[in-house]
Order: sequence, then structure tokens, then C-alpha cells
Amino acid sequence: MNFVPLKSGKTVEGADIEAFCNEVKGQKHVYLLAGVHGDEVEGVYCLEQLFKWLKQVENIEYPIIVIPLLNVDGYRTGTRLNSHGVDLNRNLPSACWALEFTEGKYNPGPKPFSEPENLFLKKLFEKYTPSIMISFHSWKPMINFNGSCKGLAEFIATYNSYPVKSDVGHPTPGSLGNYLPQAYSAPVITLEFPVLEGETMMLKDIWKENETAMREMILSLDNFIS
Ligand SMILES: [Zn+2]
Repeated sequence: MNFVPLKSGKTVEGADIEAFCNEVKGQKHVYLLAGVHGDEVEGVYCLEQLFKWLKQVENIEYPIIVIPLLNVDGYRTGTRLNSHGVDLNRNLPSACWALEFTEGKYNPGPKPFSEPENLFLKKLFEKYTPSIMISFHSWKPMINFNGSCKGLAEFIATYNSYPVKSDVGHPTPGSLGNYLPQAYSAPVITLEFPVLEGETMMLKDIWKENETAMREMILSLDNFIS
């Protein structure tokens, strides 16, 4: 399947944020997004591998937008936050957005959509309406779902055996998971891949344990989106 580059966005420091779409036309788009948190290399790597495979398959009949790395500045410096010290996954205008935060790593910014990286997402959502968002992170392995995609989360779990959760255990105001179901009725799957620890586990091992899950997710997504 051929993917064409869309007009890039810009980070705080002026780096390009790349985005690609396949050439299938449709009203709503499946989003595949990684690197919202710059230090979560595991998610970025897994989407990179999935994207390589996507370019080889031909039988996908729904529109896809791929954003391989949103927080380009944070990825370069190995930090969760963007160059303004903002958590991009707390900076979206969900109903529960709040200026207060408990820890620096959850800094939501001065107001929703204050950050250029998220303004780029906003622009894409306005132009290419989302049907579902699959966001690639790393933390405690789990498949977190927001909105009507529990069935898909459970389907993925049959392949990677990660726990399926509607709640990560702490509030996430201003996250994509809170924002997209409200703004676009688009559900969100937040994939938390394991974090690399020690010297025995490698990125390719994380991909290996998720490769089938990710491919089957793409091949069956049609059955789970409206
Ligand atoms: Zn994350």
C-alpha cells in the first residue's frame, strides 16, 4: 500500500512532524500515532515496524493516517515533555482539562492546544475526521480503551495477552483518550508497550511479542469501526 506524505507540522523548536496517508478515500480515518511522550521509544519503534509492514500489504480498504513521531523535540532529548515542558497528552481540550497538575510530568500547559505539536493534530483532525485513534506509548503493558472500542481492545489482547483497561488508575485530563471520544465520537486505544529494562530485552523483542497482535488489529479493524 502506498503512503503519501502530508504537509508536515512544526514542533516548538521548529522541527518537522511528519504525517502520511494511504490513498484510500473515505469520510473517516484511522489514526496511528506514536511518540506523544518523547522518552517512550518502545512505542515509536513498534509503530515504525508496523508502518514498514503496512507499506507491503495491499488489502486494506480504509483510510489511514500515520504520525510516526509527534514529540520530535522530546524524542531527541529523551524526555517525556515537549520543549515547553508540557505533557502533550494533557494539553487537549477535553471537558475535564484543568490548569492544576500534581507532578511536573503531567504539566498541561497554560491552556488547551497551547502547543504547536497538538495544533498540528487539531489541523489533521479537522481535515481528516478520525474514526479511531491508536496511540503507541510505553509504561506498564496494557491496552487502555476510551470510548466504544472495548471489543477491539479485547481482540488485540487475545494476541499479546496484555490487560485490557478502561482506566489507567489515575486521572488523565486533556488526554487524547478523553478528548477524541468527546469531540469526534472517535474511540481511542492507548497501547502501553513494556519499557526496556536491563540489557537482556531489546526493542525487537517487544515488537516480536506484538507483531501478530498489531497485524491482526490492522487486518480486522474494519469490523470494529463505524
Ligand atoms: Zn506515554
